[in-house]
Amino acid sequence: MIQVFKSGWLATGPKVKQFEDKIAEYLGLTNNENVFVKAFTSATGALEIALRAIGIQPGDEVIVPSMTFAASANVVKLCGANPVIVDVDRETRNLNLQIIKKAITKKTKAIMPVHFAGLAVDMDPILNFAKENSLRVIEDAAHAIGSSYKNKKIGSFGDIISFSFHPNKNMTTIEGGALILKSKEEADMVDLLRFHGIKKDHLGNMDVLIPSGKYNLSDVSAVVGISQLKRLDGFCAKRKKLVTHYFKRLNNVKNLELPFLGDEGHSWHIFAPLFDFKKIGLTRPEFIQRMGARGIAAGVHYAALHTFTAYKDCTVPGETYKSALEIGEKTLTLPLFTKMEISDVDRVCDTVIELIG
Ligand SMILES: *Cc1c(COP(=O)(O)O)cnc(C)c1O
Repeated sequence: MIQVFKSGWLATGPKVKQFEDKIAEYLGLTNNENVFVKAFTSATGALEIALRAIGIQPGDEVIVPSMTFAASANVVKLCGANPVIVDVDRETRNLNLQIIKKAITKKTKAIMPVHFAGLAVDMDPILNFAKENSLRVIEDAAHAIGSSYKNKKIGSFGDIISFSFHPNKNMTTIEGGALILKSKEEADMVDLLRFHGIKKDHLGNMDVLIPSGKYNLSDVSAVVGISQLKRLDGFCAKRKKLVTHYFKRLNNVKNLELPFLGDEGHSWHIFAPLFDFKKIGLTRPEFIQRMGARGIAAGVHYAALHTFTAYKDCTVPGETYKSALEIGEKTLTLPLFTKMEISDVDRVCDTVIELIG
């Protein structure tokens, strides 16, 4: 870090390139003519540029799950296209092919699976279906750096994948994100769109080909990312250990439903059981407030996306969103970060059990 400050090169430079190569390496890939890793200032920016680079336009539809952060749908709107919000599976909280099929129209151009909480979406059927129907698959893997699907790391296969390195994710660059792409043409377009639409020739003469914004990561952030990447597997192992203890302590607690356990590939970005607040006799804000009074921060990830003002119209005709609505009402995220110890998990569980009564 000090080296970077001393080098005088703070914005996008050699460290960003190194970080991009290291991400590829972590995924078991080589950053070359077949795979292209592009670092961004955020996953939101990365997703937006991915959609633009594949030509998503006004009138196009992109399928987005109801259980996600608003950014997944916001970027579709920013391209002038229409997010089509679908329900999720009640158990995994992820979308699946069966759910996607109900939302396909002539205007569908892409599907955006979200590996919710770090649990991989069942990707094979979706990727096959997309291939057969000439649809693109942009994975919002903001929760899923360090996750695996059938023993393959998320990001190591698929179409286009977007990671987030916001501080609340499993690893961080303070702010940041990355795209994994497979097409040289699209990677070149991403390069252009990531930095003002500027193209320079070999003499350094500048041209602007397409007006665009500015999304390039800094070298200062990149060195944070390089160091974090080395520790990522350790972070994930620690999260898993803490979650295992949560499961042990909260098993059989009434009016509380543990999340789907998944397999070894779950990176546990968040741990969010479902609480039957009606039966408990406290509203969720009351419950959160009482946890807060005992020094424990709990959060909500998330209300069903189509309940937000901007997305009320982005629904599938006839869909009831039964699962997403129920999850959205009952979900409560309990503390989970790598500095926690087993004794902290015990304290959270004691409090939860006490408040449930
Ligand atoms: C955090 C998050 C994003 C956005 O990531 P940023 O790097 O903060 O832009 C997008 N999608 C999901 C599901 C997220 O959780």
